[in-house]
Amino acid sequence: MLRLLLLMSLFLPLQLVAKQPLIVTNSVAWKPYSYIDENGDPKGLLIDYWREWGRVNQTQVEFLLLDWNDSLIAVKEGRADIHAGLLYSEQRADFLRFGGQIIPLSASLFIRSDQVAEGIQPMEQGRTPLGVVKGGFESSFAKAQYPKAKLVEFNNNSLMLDKALNGELDVFISDHQVANFYLNSQQDPTSFVAIKQLYLLPIRAAVSAQNPDLLAQINAGMARVNPDEVNRIKQKWINTEKVPPIWVAWLGPLAIAILILIVVTYIWQLKRAVKQRTEQLTQANEALGLAAKSDYLTGLLNRRAFMHEFAQLLQDKQVRHLALLMIDIDRFKGINDNFGHLVGDQALAWVARILQKHSDEAILVTRFGGEEFCLLYVNLATIELGRLAEQLRSAIASQSMPYGDETIALTVSIGGAVADKVGGDSEQIGALIHSADLRLYQAKKQGRNQVCLAENENNPRENSTV
Ligand code: GH3
Ligand code: MG
Ligand code: MG
Repeated sequence: MLRLLLLMSLFLPLQLVAKQPLIVTNSVAWKPYSYIDENGDPKGLLIDYWREWGRVNQTQVEFLLLDWNDSLIAVKEGRADIHAGLLYSEQRADFLRFGGQIIPLSASLFIRSDQVAEGIQPMEQGRTPLGVVKGGFESSFAKAQYPKAKLVEFNNNSLMLDKALNGELDVFISDHQVANFYLNSQQDPTSFVAIKQLYLLPIRAAVSAQNPDLLAQINAGMARVNPDEVNRIKQKWINTEKVPPIWVAWLGPLAIAILILIVVTYIWQLKRAVKQRTEQLTQANEALGLAAKSDYLTGLLNRRAFMHEFAQLLQDKQVRHLALLMIDIDRFKGINDNFGHLVGDQALAWVARILQKHSDEAILVTRFGGEEFCLLYVNLATIELGRLAEQLRSAIASQSMPYGDETIALTVSIGGAVADKVGGDSEQIGALIHSADLRLYQAKKQGRNQVCLAENENNPRENSTV
């Protein structure tokens, strides 16, 4: 019967076998495991854990949060039923019975960042004080590990971290999560660094050594707590490092987007600049090409360009007949002598303008050199060439060049020649020019201001004189 009752008690809600309510103790300043918040309420991972434990075991739980050492004494003396979570040590095992594991706890040696270079030697030799929490596992660990160290004991983590952050303590041992929790809530979370991990041990529940039955109840109750819920609680408290504000999370992608925008804009501007420059260069090239082809005084094609274009025409299958006029201003030297070279230049430009005006049929209009001009026609009969030459001669002779209030009369002599194109032979150019030159000479000899045409040797029936 007694055995049956005992067996039942294992499955019955705990309040039937434990006193009401169950008092759970821990540190008053052990963030994020247990602490009292600004409203005086118990908070932390272990508080949530034991609340969940109370819920699933239908047991009312109350918290008694004290300085660390006092929390151990409270269990020892029966003022609290359960210690919410602590590390096992032989010393503690003298008056406590340890139960199931709740969460692993790692402790590290923290050192002020600017003293990392000097290392932990000054602390090991007792020259730099080492902060620990009184009655904490760290305290006994430090005594064993660093026997020469000068320990400074604090009643809780909050007091120790306050001293460290105020610049009055350079080295301390603390649970990793606890130190991070306090450091991360500071302006400069990097003011201390964990220089060495000291241990990684599980936090366990504990009851007084006087009350072993309660431990069995607690362990059974712990088994009823859903592991998923335990994980959720761990997530909630262990990830309490400063969550960056939302704008910080956007900084990276924003920076990349801005960079892409800058690069794209730069490439676009570069492309535009290259396009503009190319256009300018093309225009400049065209202008240069034009300048290289033109005669500076009259704007007509120069002799070099004329010869080049003429050679090109010889390659053109459409071109079958060639006709050429060589035009020379009569007694031009006299203009220079009487009116000066500048007026001579004006006279050259004036004659060039008239020639251009009456040369729609000509394919090339050139200043051949000095006061000589040369016009080339294609596929033109000799008779037609004679008519055009006469038109040019009379256009110049019939009008005078304005010169101040007066005018200067000018005339030209013209020699012409026609030939059928024979293949692409460039010698034909020289021959045709020579032939026209001879007729020009003839026109000069016959008294100037007249046209003389050579016979077309290829096609005598087309020949005509003017
Ligand atoms: P003709 O009727 O026999 O052709 O007599 P002309 O005086 O016209 O011929 P000539 O060959 O004796 O003289 C041509 C002159 O043209 C000589 C030269 O100084 C002048 N001349 C050549 N090129 C230029 C030029 O660019 N500007 C000026 N002002 N004179 C030039
Ligand atoms: Mg001449
Ligand atoms: Mg002349």
